[in-house]
Amino acid sequence: MASVAFLGLGVMGYPMAGHLKNKGGHDVTVYNRTTAKAEKWVAEHGGAFAKTPAEAAEGKDFVFTCVGNDNDLRQVTIGPDGCFRSMKANSIYIDNTTASAEVARELAAQAEAGGFAALDAPVSGGQAGAENGVLTVMVGGEKDAFDRAKPVIDSFARMVGLMGPAGAGQLTKMINQIAIAGLVQGLAEGLHFGRRAGLDLEKVVEVISKGAAGSWQMENRHKTMIAGKYDFGFAVDWMRKDLGICLEEADRNGAKLPVTALVDQFYKEVQQMGGNRWDTSSLMARLER
Ligand code: NAP
Repeated sequence: MASVAFLGLGVMGYPMAGHLKNKGGHDVTVYNRTTAKAEKWVAEHGGAFAKTPAEAAEGKDFVFTCVGNDNDLRQVTIGPDGCFRSMKANSIYIDNTTASAEVARELAAQAEAGGFAALDAPVSGGQAGAENGVLTVMVGGEKDAFDRAKPVIDSFARMVGLMGPAGAGQLTKMINQIAIAGLVQGLAEGLHFGRRAGLDLEKVVEVISKGAAGSWQMENRHKTMIAGKYDFGFAVDWMRKDLGICLEEADRNGAKLPVTALVDQFYKEVQQMGGNRWDTSSLMARLER
C-alpha cells in the first residue's frame, strides 16, 4: 500500500482515484479545484481531501494529476500552491492529462531539480474505460520510475507501456488521436451515406463490423450516431485541444497531417453548432444538419 495524492476529479480523475483506493488498496488523498467534488469523492470512497495541490501532495509516494490542458497543469504543479512545492525526495509524479510533449519535458526537468521523478502518462479508453478501470496508459520517463509506478497505475489500467523518455507518452497519445480523427469522420460518412441510400443501418453495421471496416468507434458509437445522441462521452472541446497539440507538434517535426487538419476544422463547425461538450462522434451531426 502506498500513500497517493490525486489532483483533478473530473470525468476521468474521479473514477481513476476511486480505483487507486478500492482496487489498489492505497491510501488516497484527493484535491479538486471545486471542493464539492472532493467532498463527494471522500463521502463515497473514504480517504481524505486537501484544499490545495501542495497540501494534498505533502509526504506522498505518488502524486497523480488529471486536469484539462497545459496551463491547468502548470497551475496545479508549479503554480503558487502547486504540488511540486511539497513533493518529497524520491517520490514520483504521474500526469494523466492529455497535454503537450513540451510541458511534459518541462515538468520532468523541474522534478529532477526537485529530487523526484516525473512520468507523463496520458490515457485512452474514455469515461467507460476510467469507470471500469481498464484504461490504456502511454508513459514517458525513466525506466526506474516507471517500474516503481506501474503496479500503482495498474489499479485503473489494462495496458501500461513505457514509450521512451519524458514526452514520449504524450507523443504516443497524439498518434492515438491522429488515428481516431480520420476514422470517426470515415465512420460518420459511411453511416450518413447509408441513411441516404435507404439501408437499415443497424443491419449494415452488424455485417460490416465483422470485416475490415470494424473498429472500437463502430462497435461503441454506431447506435448513438444512428440515433443522433451526442450528449455524453469525449467532448469535442477536448478533441480540438488534442488535435491542436498534434498539429503544433507536426509543425515542429515536419509530419504531414492533412486529414487531421481537415477534421479539426470539421470539429470547429460542430462547436459552432453548439456541440462543445458533445461526444466526438458528433461529426455525424455536422453531415446531417
Ligand atoms: P473534466 O471532466 O473537464 O475535468 C477536468 C478536471 O480538471 C476537473 O477536476 C477540473 O476541476 C480540473 N481543472 C481544470 N483546470 C484546472 C485548474 N486550472 N486548476 C485546478 N484544477 C483544474 O475533464 P476529463 O474528461 O476528466 O479530462 C481530463 C483530461 O483527460 C483531459 O486532458 C482530457 O483531454 C483527458 N482525457 C479525457 C478523456 C475522456 O473521455 N473524458 C479520455 C482520455 C483523456 P473543476 O472540477 O474545479 O472544474
